[in-house]
Amino acid sequence: MRTTGAVLLVVGLLLGVVALNMDTSVATEAQSVGGITIPSVRVNNLGLMDERRNYLIVASVIAVVGVLLVAAGAIQASSSAVVGHASDQAAPDGSAESAGERRQCPQCAELIKREAKICRFCGYDMSEVLAAEKAEWTAFLTDQVRQQSDAVREHGDEVPAGQVFELGRRWALLFDQTGDPDHRSKALAAMRRAREIDPKCGEDEDFFAERRVEPYGSLVNDPEFKEFI
Ligand SMILES: [Zn+2]
Repeated sequence: MRTTGAVLLVVGLLLGVVALNMDTSVATEAQSVGGITIPSVRVNNLGLMDERRNYLIVASVIAVVGVLLVAAGAIQASSSAVVGHASDQAAPDGSAESAGERRQCPQCAELIKREAKICRFCGYDMSEVLAAEKAEWTAFLTDQVRQQSDAVREHGDEVPAGQVFELGRRWALLFDQTGDPDHRSKALAAMRRAREIDPKCGEDEDFFAERRVEPYGSLVNDPEFKEFI
C-alpha cells in the first residue's frame, strides 16, 4: 500500500511539474492592416490554459491519493505491530518482541509492560488492545486443541506421551482464559493420561512457553495443576 502511494505521489508531482511548464501560448500570424504591419506575437490560448488547469487538477488528485495511501500504510503497519499478527497460523513466537515483557503504547510509542492496562507515560487505555489479544490467543488455543485432539484420536493406543501432554497443556491454557470447567477436566485428563504413559513427560518444558495473555490466575492457583506446571 505504501509503495503504491509513493508511486502515485511521484506520478502526481511529475505531472504537476509537466503541466506547470506547459506552453499555453500560440503565435499569431503577421498581419498587414492599412499598410501597417502587425508582427507575429505570442498570445495565451484559452483552450491550452484550460487544458493545463485540468492537468494540474488531475496531478493534485493523484498526489493527494498517494499521500493518503502512504499514511494509511504507516498506520496499518504500526497497529499490526501492537496487536500482533492476527492472521498468523503459527504459535505466537517466544521472542522478546511479541511474547516478551514489553510492548509499544499505540498513542505515545513508549515501551510499557505487556500486561499494563493503562500506559504509564500518557495514560492511554490499553483495554481494547488487551481484549483483542486475549480473543486472538483464545481462538488460537481453541483451534489447537481441536487439531491436536484429532491427531491424538487418530493414533489410538500408539499415541506418544508428549503429544497427549501437549494437548493437555493447551486445554489448561484455554481453561485459564475461559474458566470453563469442561476445559479444566479435559486438561487434567490428558495430562494424567500422558503421565501414565511416561511419568516424566512434559517435566523439562516451560509450561507457559508460549504465554501471551496474563494473568494465569485460575491455573497457577488450582492445586490439581500443581504437579504439571
Ligand atoms: Zn502512552
